[in-house]
Amino acid sequence: MSKDPTFRVLGGLPSRSERYEAYRREWDRREAAQDASDHPVHVDLESVAVCDLRCGSSEEDPQGFCQIWTHEHIRTQGFDQHTYQRGYMDPVLYGRLIQQCADIGVSSIKLNYRGEPSLHPRIVSFIREAAGLGFPDIMMNTNGNGGARKNPQLFAQMVEAGITDLMFSVDACDPETYHRQRVGGNWEILLNSVRSAVRTRADGKGAPDCRIRASVVRTHLNAEHVDSGRMEEFWKGKMGVDWMSISECYFPAGTTHHWKAAEWRQMDASQFQCSDPYRRMVVTWDGRHTMPCCQGFTLEIDGGGVMGVPGAPVRSLREAWATANFDRLREAHRQRTWDRPGPGGEPICQSCAVTKVPTRIAPVRDESAGKVVLPVLRG
Ligand code: SF4
Ligand code: SF4
Repeated sequence: MSKDPTFRVLGGLPSRSERYEAYRREWDRREAAQDASDHPVHVDLESVAVCDLRCGSSEEDPQGFCQIWTHEHIRTQGFDQHTYQRGYMDPVLYGRLIQQCADIGVSSIKLNYRGEPSLHPRIVSFIREAAGLGFPDIMMNTNGNGGARKNPQLFAQMVEAGITDLMFSVDACDPETYHRQRVGGNWEILLNSVRSAVRTRADGKGAPDCRIRASVVRTHLNAEHVDSGRMEEFWKGKMGVDWMSISECYFPAGTTHHWKAAEWRQMDASQFQCSDPYRRMVVTWDGRHTMPCCQGFTLEIDGGGVMGVPGAPVRSLREAWATANFDRLREAHRQRTWDRPGPGGEPICQSCAVTKVPTRIAPVRDESAGKVVLPVLRG
């Protein structure tokens, strides 16, 4: 799976077909050989950069813990050129990119980067188009609300269209915690989305490799539910998802942020080499930016646009994959220089969550308050 120390699987991984396992072997080979070949194994196509939720936001903390809203916050500070614009991927651009992916041998597609992909009005046909091109893996992270607010059958339709990895970001196993963490979300809509996807797959209407996951960002609000097993019991036992993953909540901009439920230790280059730049790539919704990992929010490592924009060359995905910027990042990990302050160093990696190791903080029972709380965090 991933060696990202912030990510773990609760319980076991689901079984998969030999075809799927073969692509995962190539995914692992890229890491072991530090070999980028001439194409990525996986491409994130950002179908939308908009969202109907505002996770973790409050009046005191307007940007919450979401990259979309963090960018909105940065924009209000006058750094417009360092943020993405918000929007929806043009279906013509999508068609062009997905065909290129098929032509160059990409195995896995994810239909989101930031944002809620079910809000794209063409999302079901996007999945059908990808399935028609035969990718072993077609993935999506979703908040389970989005387009399902208007179309309760949307996630069932996605399963029927051929999605293989449908990952619901749930974060809670009760409505109260859910509404506090996934601000603006509707618990009942989420439950209906998961239920309808699980039922459709169980009825044999999905792809053979279709698996449904519940994902949780572990925070001070839900740590007890994760650690006690209640989260797993609800989503796997009661709702019937195939598997569960947990990510620790991390904030590059403020490690004292109140959401986290772990202490963080920075690794150096002798302890960590990142594999993403050898195997995955991101294309933003407007086709104006490409990145060799999923943490490139600040656009420090841009392979350039893959559509014609004034003043910028039109590149193919394969050409973006071979750009000097992408190679620079690969080299910084191959040569173990990414942690240097000067030449050879990569500030984006130094502030990235995956170069840090979390130590989970266990919730304790506060007898005077009569509830389970997290001890006060240090730094
Ligand atoms: S659902 Fe995702 S994109 Fe939307 S606010 Fe939450 S973290 Fe951000
Ligand atoms: S920013 Fe650096 S460490 Fe983080 S995912 Fe990208 S390449 Fe890896």
